[in-house]
Order: sequence, then structure tokens, then C-alpha cells
Amino acid sequence: MSRPFRCRKVRCSPDANYFKPRGIPIDVLEEVNLTIDEFEAVRLADLESRYQEDAAKKMNISRQTFGNIISSARKKIADVLVNSKALKIEGGVVKIMERYFVCYDCKHEWVLPFGSGGPNACPKCSSLNIHRAPQDRGWAKMGWGGGRGKNRCGRTV
Ligand SMILES: [Zn+2]
Repeated sequence: MSRPFRCRKVRCSPDANYFKPRGIPIDVLEEVNLTIDEFEAVRLADLESRYQEDAAKKMNISRQTFGNIISSARKKIADVLVNSKALKIEGGVVKIMERYFVCYDCKHEWVLPFGSGGPNACPKCSSLNIHRAPQDRGWAKMGWGGGRGKNRCGRTV
């Protein structure tokens, strides 16, 4: 399964995004990858004890999607604890917190942060023939930054 994504950086990368049990050599250690959205879901639902509906709103996703994310996250964490695996937190899909607009007359594209209100006209040619650009519908796939080598840029098909 793949989704279209943009390459973006996360501003707040945690100091510790890798957890490893003591005394197990790295070459026999199995690694579980908790994605950033799963991490956030656990933080909201389990640490802050929010209702799923409330937590889903915080993440700008449906309750159903939140339910899927949190159950996947809990299963991974249980796997790590029960089977003494390493836990890595990175990757996953995170909502783009910016809106993209495009002018149909001059093809100018620009970005506005969420909550700033929509534009009335194209900033370049003042045309009123402006629309939300398609790339801001849905999710962005992001790496955690600080790079473990993998190039996450580029679009999937
Ligand atoms: Zn324009």
C-alpha cells in the first residue's frame, strides 16, 4: 500500500527516538517501527487519557482512522515489551498543516498556514479564479529527520 507524499521535515524530533532492551546484541535484536502518528496517538489516548473522539480531532483524522492507528500502536508496543524488541520511532503519515492554492489563470501556486483564512484573489495576478491545490488533500508522509540513511523524498505511485 502506498500513498502520494511530499518530502517534509518534522520540526520537533525527540531526543530519544530509539529504545533498545539491555543485554541483547544488536545483530539478533528485532526492531519494531512505531510511526510518528502512532506515537502521537498513544500520547493522546494513553498518556493524556483522552477519549478517542477527542484525540482523533486533535490529529485531524476520523475516529475510525484513529482507532486503527492506536490499535496498531498498542500492538507494536506490546510486541516490543513482551518479546524484548527494539523500538524505533520514525516515519508514518502526518497531516500537512498548510494549505496549497493554485491560480488557474497564471498557474501561480502558493502556501498558507491553516487557520489563516482563505485567500480572496491570486497574490500575483489578482485573478479570482483560484482553487485549493490537490496536493493538500490527504496526508503527507514524513521522515523524522536526522536521517537513518533512507531517502524518503519523491513521490510514490
Ligand atoms: Zn494568478
